[in-house]
Amino acid sequence: MTRNTARFMPGLIALALTVCAIWLNLLAPVDRVIADLRNIVLQKTVASDVVIVAIDANSLRQLNRWPWPRDVHARLLQKLDQVDPHAVFFDIDFSVASGNVAADAALATALGEPRAYPLVLPAFWQDASAQSMHSRVLTEPLPELAQHAQIGMVNVFPGPGGLVRNAVHNDQFGQRQYRSVALQLTGQRDMKNGQFYPIDFSIAPRSFTYISYVDVLRGEVPEHLLRGKTIFIGATAVELGDNIPVPIYRAIPGVTLQATIYETLRQGVPQLASPWVTLVMLALLVVFWSRFDARGWRLQGVVCLLTFTALAGLSVYLQADHNVLLDVSAPMLLTVLALFASIVANADRQTVAAFLASLRLKREQALISGVLETSIDGILVIDASGHIHAANPAAASLFGVKTSALAGRALQTFLPALKPSAKKGREVQAGRRELSLQTAQGTLPVEVSISPPAEEAQGLMTVIVRDIRERYRQQAVLRHQASHDSLTGLPNRALLAKHLSKLKSPKRAALFMLDLDGFKTINDTLGHRTGDQILRVLGKRLRRALPKEVCVFRIGGDEFAVLVASYTRPAELQQLAEDILQRVREPLAVANTNIELGGSIGIALYPQQAEDGGMLLQCADVAMYTAKRKRSGIEFYDAESDHNTLRNLKMTGLLRQALAEQQLTMVYQPKVRLEDQRCTGVEALVRWNDAELGVVSPAEFIPLAETGDLIEPLTLFTLNQALHDHAQWCARGIDLKMSVNLSARHVTDSNFVKQILAAVARHGVSPERLELEITETALMDRPERSQAVLAQLTQAGVHLAMDDYGTGFSSLAYLKHLNLHTLKIDQCFVRDLCQSDSDRKIVNSTLNMAHSLDLEVVAEGIEDDAQAALLKDMGCDVGQGYGLGKPMAASDFIDWYVARHGQRQTNVHRFRA
Ligand code: C2E
Ligand code: MG
Ligand code: MG
Repeated sequence: MTRNTARFMPGLIALALTVCAIWLNLLAPVDRVIADLRNIVLQKTVASDVVIVAIDANSLRQLNRWPWPRDVHARLLQKLDQVDPHAVFFDIDFSVASGNVAADAALATALGEPRAYPLVLPAFWQDASAQSMHSRVLTEPLPELAQHAQIGMVNVFPGPGGLVRNAVHNDQFGQRQYRSVALQLTGQRDMKNGQFYPIDFSIAPRSFTYISYVDVLRGEVPEHLLRGKTIFIGATAVELGDNIPVPIYRAIPGVTLQATIYETLRQGVPQLASPWVTLVMLALLVVFWSRFDARGWRLQGVVCLLTFTALAGLSVYLQADHNVLLDVSAPMLLTVLALFASIVANADRQTVAAFLASLRLKREQALISGVLETSIDGILVIDASGHIHAANPAAASLFGVKTSALAGRALQTFLPALKPSAKKGREVQAGRRELSLQTAQGTLPVEVSISPPAEEAQGLMTVIVRDIRERYRQQAVLRHQASHDSLTGLPNRALLAKHLSKLKSPKRAALFMLDLDGFKTINDTLGHRTGDQILRVLGKRLRRALPKEVCVFRIGGDEFAVLVASYTRPAELQQLAEDILQRVREPLAVANTNIELGGSIGIALYPQQAEDGGMLLQCADVAMYTAKRKRSGIEFYDAESDHNTLRNLKMTGLLRQALAEQQLTMVYQPKVRLEDQRCTGVEALVRWNDAELGVVSPAEFIPLAETGDLIEPLTLFTLNQALHDHAQWCARGIDLKMSVNLSARHVTDSNFVKQILAAVARHGVSPERLELEITETALMDRPERSQAVLAQLTQAGVHLAMDDYGTGFSSLAYLKHLNLHTLKIDQCFVRDLCQSDSDRKIVNSTLNMAHSLDLEVVAEGIEDDAQAALLKDMGCDVGQGYGLGKPMAASDFIDWYVARHGQRQTNVHRFRA
């Protein structure tokens, strides 16, 4: 059933029950009561022309007997004849002879007098006997009387409760038609037999004028009271027993009832509303009620009352203004029943809902109390003044008191730092903060969260108190981890930076930078675990050896820093540095052997040498490198030497950029066969012309590149460029030997060999046309390793040349194993060759030695013809130098070559084919 249909249900159920009630005539008593109430409400005194000449107690007493002889009535009639009334009705039974013949005759005579107004005598029928309810007898005036008058029926018909409510216009008795007294007196035409109509009891009996019979009889009544009036003559004295039970007035004399019926007719008989009206009302109420279904019994009750009021008002209004009688019991019953049905239906829904809600509430309460009981946080409820109302067990144990002992105490007793609220009347401010909790056992850090006061909870506030000792401990651990080295437990670089940032001039401080010598070798040879062990021991030693105010940090692999927060003389620092080195040098027993370490210390001073901590660190670093380079152990920072260091730093950056942006270029220096002055090869030399630094010599930037990670890309660049240019020249028919310089670093890197050979193949150059120049010192650095690497190159066909021969200490025996192709005599022997006897001897023996090993010899740095001629005479094969040809750009070299040799070589093509 949809919600829409459902809301009609109570109304429809009520309608069904109401129709049943109507069907079973259960509503009639209610209607009667309502009709009576309405009449009470509408009770009025109407302008009636009725005068009741009452046979009242006074009349009975005055005439002193009963029944009166009928001549009394005759006399009354004569009196009335004199005042010319509108009509006269004798409500007196004249159906049998009284026994006083004269008196009866007198009445008959009086009645027989001619008169202009109607005179009515009563007739009625009644049951024949007490036993027989079915045979009726008619009681009507004696014929001698009746003949002079109209007969008016006075029968009334008691309804439920014995009350007379209705009257009838006329009725049939036997063959004869009898009109009612009221009909006779009003002269209205005949109505349908037996048609009942309601007597209008809203007409108050006081509407009629009552005059004592005896007064009229004695002529004591002013004429105007009787003239033109409708006179009802009848018994009102209680003792005469002619009282009839009616609604509202309980019982009224029969004559008054007849007068009321007459007046009802005069005023107009009230019309009963059509049953259809009731039906329409019932239907409308069903629809109307549907709008208030499930709106709560209170509203429905009000709607019910308003409906009642409206119905009552309507029925009163209809009777008062339109003389229409509308029975409202059925609509009222429907309203009450609909209200009841709605309440029953909704009560059902609400009861279920309430039951479920209570279950939910119970579950939630159980959950909440469970949470409170088991929470490890202290949870308290406080009032606006900060006094504790309730607390959970965790709060009690945190505060170190019993739960019961907490109630009523001020929260500030335990949390003295709790700030009062800015708001008036509030002792405690809502929010979250970290405070100290004061307990009998001492203070402990807690986080306190106070909820804003809840209006619905009379301003109570919830306080959550959390023990944050563990959090503090964790934070401390994290802080320590962040600022300390995990291996040695010493403060780390971050903490050093923090200390350095706090330096304040003019307070003097010094920073030592300590780097272990040869530590890399220890790591490589003994393994990292031994290396770590050494560092741990060393860390401990340093910490123990240094005074308290001196702090030692581990800031890198084998780098330590020592911050001297204050000192008076640099000599103290020197002494301290020496002590430190002493500690470092003490033998270390690790890995079953005694190890002796060395170290270099750089010292920088604040604020004399560095204006801030960052600079101080840099200066100490520079000084340490100086100490390392000089192998002096301890070095104070010197601004002069730092200049180069700074330039190097800058240069490294710029070189990296130049490589990335391909700003480096190649020049080629010819190598000339001294015998016929023919150019047989070139040496590729790299050039760097930086926008900021100007032209930088390879002698400066190559060693720089070798210390960092730039030498590999640099060599690959030169190699590729040289091979590329070589291929170009070949294409033009010039096939010369291309010499490229190799760094010492590459000589031990077999991986790099693969890259070289790949480049050769990529450029389509025959390997024999490439010669790699390697300095003597590079070859001597790690002979075994370089030997293996170089063997790979020679096996591939690449020629090798020993560069700068004579500057190192290569032994002849060693040279033999290298599979060299060329030996280049360093220019320092050529420079003064013509003048220096010893140089000539060296060159001479070198030439002999080289030739005996079947090596080609190149003399470097030939600047003039004399040197060239001498070397030619000495048997040197090839010469290189400014005097023979300067290093030139690739295109310039072609021009130089063509100008020198005139024509291109073509044999290359043949060779390559
Ligand atoms: P190097 O390999 O011995 O190269 C010869 C150096 O002597 C070159 O200096 C050249 O310009 C210079 N030179 C030639 N003839 C004369 C002369 O008659 N008199 C004088 N005083 N000098 C002469 P450069 O080009 O400045 O190169 C210096 C060093 O830089 C080279 O010595 C070489 O070891 C290195 N180098 C140059 N280019 C490269 C390169 O591309 N890769 C590598 N790894 N090193 C290179
Ligand atoms: Mg060279
Ligand atoms: Mg050289």
